[in-house]
Amino acid sequence: MNTTFHNPECLFCRIVRGEIPATVVYRNEHVLAFRDIAPAAPQHVLIIPVRHIASLSDLQPEDLDIAGHILLAARQVAEITGVLDSGYRLVFNNGPDALQSVFHIHGHLTGGRRMGWPPFPGEASIHG
Ligand code: ZN
Repeated sequence: MNTTFHNPECLFCRIVRGEIPATVVYRNEHVLAFRDIAPAAPQHVLIIPVRHIASLSDLQPEDLDIAGHILLAARQVAEITGVLDSGYRLVFNNGPDALQSVFHIHGHLTGGRRMGWPPFPGEASIHG
């Protein structure tokens, strides 16, 4: 396994440990979901594994369970935030070209407004 449980330098590991406050929407033993501090939609929640994994590219076969837990948590967050039926988007920015800004896997669940396709035309934000 190429990941440590927590990375002391990692912003999201610090949120998991409670060292940095966050508005938690959902958590279980595998994942933590909290509101994005710069929301791009009426509902904008980040879903992260509790264990430090830097990016989707670092996922290994033994991470199958945590990958599934992240998706199932997204469904729970959608229900909690009231967008389960109206619809929502789950985006994982991975690597520099995708503007991944924190290297701890995080899915952005956004909802509560009508979205466009393709996603993020004219992307101006550096927040990923
Ligand atoms: Zn981390």
